[in-house]
Amino acid sequence: MLPPVPPSKGAPARPASEAGRRSLFPDATDAEWSDWRWHQRHAVRNLAQLEKYVLLTPDERAGVQETSELFRIGISPYYLSLIDRDHPFCPIRMQSIPVRAEARIRPGELADPLGEDKTRPEEAIVHKYPDRVLFLALDTCSVYCRHCTRRRITKGGEAELTKEQMRRGLEYIRRHPEVRDVLISGGDPFLLSEERLEELLAPLHEIPHVEMVRIGTRVPVCLPMRVTDSLARLLRRYAPVYVVTHFNHPKEVTPEAREACERLVDHGVPVENQAVLMRQLNSDARIIRELSHALLRIRVRPYYLHQMDVAQGCEHLRTPISKGMEIIQQLRGHTTGLAVPHLAVDLPGGGGKVTLQPDYVLERGEHETVFRNYKGESYVYPEPEQTDCSCPYDSVWQTRRWG
Ligand code: SF4
Repeated sequence: MLPPVPPSKGAPARPASEAGRRSLFPDATDAEWSDWRWHQRHAVRNLAQLEKYVLLTPDERAGVQETSELFRIGISPYYLSLIDRDHPFCPIRMQSIPVRAEARIRPGELADPLGEDKTRPEEAIVHKYPDRVLFLALDTCSVYCRHCTRRRITKGGEAELTKEQMRRGLEYIRRHPEVRDVLISGGDPFLLSEERLEELLAPLHEIPHVEMVRIGTRVPVCLPMRVTDSLARLLRRYAPVYVVTHFNHPKEVTPEAREACERLVDHGVPVENQAVLMRQLNSDARIIRELSHALLRIRVRPYYLHQMDVAQGCEHLRTPISKGMEIIQQLRGHTTGLAVPHLAVDLPGGGGKVTLQPDYVLERGEHETVFRNYKGESYVYPEPEQTDCSCPYDSVWQTRRWG
């Protein structure tokens, strides 16, 4: 086992959930609080339970009632303990408690905004891009995010895969040698037991053309006690496994979350973050910069900043495209390049991801290109005289590599 992890630079040592835990769950013992299954058993799942802990606004109360048939509620005691009970715009609260607007479906909103069901050759598999597949492992999560794009699955009804569905999913990957990257998602794969997770990771590891596995999870954010040494060791055994997590606000980067992420990294499991841009929650360059800096301090790479998908019931959280561009403009050049995520739009209906960035080119000529830099000053980049970019050694390299 690795030695205990010293706190990262600038990280507060006191558990962020302590005050909330003391007032909301005073009877929870330390052993219970550090047990992820206890949090799953005590998750808040309906209006009556929620009202025991939070003084809801009329909008939230109506939201819980009006969305009850549309999308489930589930908030782990840990995540609930981070809620600001006095402010309806608390980012934890906005991500976990529905408001009335969520019950309204606007024109253009889609049940399957990324067109995944059109490219789902097996129950477990979405095969949209040429060299990678999405493996849908289960339909449950530690917290049901109000901005969830895959709510047609996570609202319930798809359940954990049967052994036969999992076998068919693995068989599909074996039959498709072009698949070199498998993203396991759902739902949240870290809610699977380690035995079940290993039933998936071990055979994937055996498939020669699968070069890497990614796991999409919100557990480090919403249920960090689930990231045990034993889970981290399991992932390390099947390297390369990348964890793709989902912090949206610096308030979520707590000492508990740090411990979870650093445990993964210390075991050799890289962690990347995909944030979603949400109106009035994190739609400000200052917040995204603070989030990126907080993530880098705990060794998580800010990877994507997603424009909100056109999922049903999410209109009230969507930002104009221009807001994301403005945020990137305010980060690029003003802070470390690693702290600037890619701004991505997943095109509605299944067009795939495109990335956006402010246009820095002022003039494009045959002999030179004129740019503006992050301060708005212009600079000239001279084009080279030689423009043949073929790589003569490549045919040799390819023969040696495969031959
Ligand atoms: S954890 Fe992911 S899949 Fe689950 S509700 Fe949140 S966004 Fe959706």
